[in-house]
Amino acid sequence: MTCLPSLAAPVLSFAGPMITAKEILMGRDVDAPLTTIQFYNLLDLLPRLNLIRFHYGKPLKVSSGYRPPKQNEKAGGAKQSCHLSLEACDFADPDGSFAAWCLANLDLLKIAGLYMEDPAHTVGWVHLQTRATKNNPFLP
Ligand SMILES: [Zn+2]
Repeated sequence: MTCLPSLAAPVLSFAGPMITAKEILMGRDVDAPLTTIQFYNLLDLLPRLNLIRFHYGKPLKVSSGYRPPKQNEKAGGAKQSCHLSLEACDFADPDGSFAAWCLANLDLLKIAGLYMEDPAHTVGWVHLQTRATKNNPFLP
């Protein structure tokens, strides 16, 4: 019988904590419970983000995830923002290092099925979404 090594420990210690649904929801689902579509959008979004997160190899901090209409307005989000439907998540990127990494790894974004807002328009954070755009990165 072949004894397979456990991959869990080294992978987790290499990559650190993955992004969780809880971080993306930001507790906002208490006042604005998810519709079925939002729930499935989140289930679709999360592993795509974590594929990127894994390859990036460093923890990422969600700066803005789920935005019910009230929070979206407060954040100055677009009326049809992907944050409303749980098709997008922003990550804090104070020094631009994650944005630079994403731009250098657009092939990985493509594999993950993620589209990035042009970082010139998102200084201090990185916006990634599952809703397809013509260009990647795309202009707001
Ligand atoms: Zn965003």
